[in-house]
Amino acid sequence: MHIIHIASELAPIAKVGGLGDVLYGLSQELVRLKHTVEIILPKYDCLDFKLIENLKVEVKELITPNHSSTIWSGTYKGLKLLLVEPHHPEHFFHRGVIYGCADDLERFTHFSQITLAYLDHLQQPPDAVHLHDWPTALVSILAKQQKDPHNTLLTIHNLEHQGKCTPALLTEAGVDMGNSFIHNMLQDPTSPELCNLLKGGILASDAVTTVSPNYQKEILTVEGGCGLHESLILSQDKLTGILNGIDEHFWNPEFDPYLVASYNTHQVSTQEQLKAVLEGKQANRHHLATHVHLRASKRPLVASVTRLVPQKSPELIKAALLRTLEKGGQFILLGTTQIPEIKAEFVRLQTEYQDNPDIAILLDYDEALSHLIFAAADLFVIPSLFEPCGLTQLIALRYGAVPLARITGGLADTVFDIDSAAKPLKERNGFTFDFPDAQGLYWALDRALKYYEETPQLWHTLMMQGMNRDFSWKHTAPKYVEIYEKLRG
Ligand code: ADP
Repeated sequence: MHIIHIASELAPIAKVGGLGDVLYGLSQELVRLKHTVEIILPKYDCLDFKLIENLKVEVKELITPNHSSTIWSGTYKGLKLLLVEPHHPEHFFHRGVIYGCADDLERFTHFSQITLAYLDHLQQPPDAVHLHDWPTALVSILAKQQKDPHNTLLTIHNLEHQGKCTPALLTEAGVDMGNSFIHNMLQDPTSPELCNLLKGGILASDAVTTVSPNYQKEILTVEGGCGLHESLILSQDKLTGILNGIDEHFWNPEFDPYLVASYNTHQVSTQEQLKAVLEGKQANRHHLATHVHLRASKRPLVASVTRLVPQKSPELIKAALLRTLEKGGQFILLGTTQIPEIKAEFVRLQTEYQDNPDIAILLDYDEALSHLIFAAADLFVIPSLFEPCGLTQLIALRYGAVPLARITGGLADTVFDIDSAAKPLKERNGFTFDFPDAQGLYWALDRALKYYEETPQLWHTLMMQGMNRDFSWKHTAPKYVEIYEKLRG
């Protein structure tokens, strides 16, 4: 089958968070399954161009109303990329960032309009066009207006971001706002004077998926639906929750080029194999400690690698950091944020603890360092308020770090508390808590630190159970293939 993804991120050449990882891992697995996969992205000036091979012009001048664009092609690790460069006076993708511009809505509606023109220009349409989140949802609405529409699948990676814009902007992007059917599809449920790209995409796409079975259930409720539960309930028949995977090469301590010592975490069952894992983790911890100025210690290393936004409960990450310190452990945080108050608070913490040899706070985006942290960490905290799937718990498990997570969304599908009888003993792999407050977090964190210190054997069993579960795309990519096949008819 021929599948075209239209997306705003691809790891690691244009990554902000999990969306980039999903595009990379899912596409690689589809290629392994012998499908033809192409990924259309904006030609951001901040793409990691040194990773892209065979970069060349594919279509010199693709005409859309008002402006033309050049479509470039290239490859990354065997994946075919198509990079859209609009010749627009606003230089939409020469901003040094992927998101966060005042005109993001214009940038991505323009991108969607061009990608549809590109699809129309192809002699042979793809079997499925796979869209991701609000930045590309408009493609399905534009496609719906055509006589011979493309088969579209929209994946909701995060329902919180919906792309609310004026009808005038969509008229500019080629939407027939005079058509009442299209207008109703796009009308925002809470601000009826605005349009909602994600809502329109949900209603217009032929199929909709989201990134975990539990999040699928949550978004159908008033509490979890972010205002779109009614549109989602209407779309239930075409909605599926498919758990994200992690790429088994990109996230694998056996082959990870960012680590100083490799170690194999697949099928660890003997004491010898466990010893090799512990030695590998120890060597990476030693290197990390030197790099970020943590003192050598045998106490647990607790970690967090995250965007510091309200969804991720930054105040609970701070609470975990202080509690770990109080209990004699070490904590490392690698986080980014564009929210001034959150940034100010973590810069303050960073200054307060800069001379503390048990705390490292790095307010940066750093792919290489993130891999080293997963390898070095003993415990990985994810106290999110909501979490569509979450990848860091899956990566932590693969690297032999035990996850501590709040029970929500995909975290509830993947992290099972050692002390809860909800799962058989053999499937338990971490620590969980329910109430998103400091007491809830302490309840789980104190238990984790106690297990680590007092019952190392049990801790190792927990690590092994975590490492032995396979969260690669092998199991879930075929579920996407089933949907593409249905779309093709
Ligand atoms: P989200 O997509 O909501 O940010 P996920 O858990 O799905 O959360 O995915 C986060 C991805 O981004 C993971 O690969 C994680 O390692 C990575 N990541 C998050 N923050 C940073 C950072 N500051 N530096 C490097 N990688 C990061």
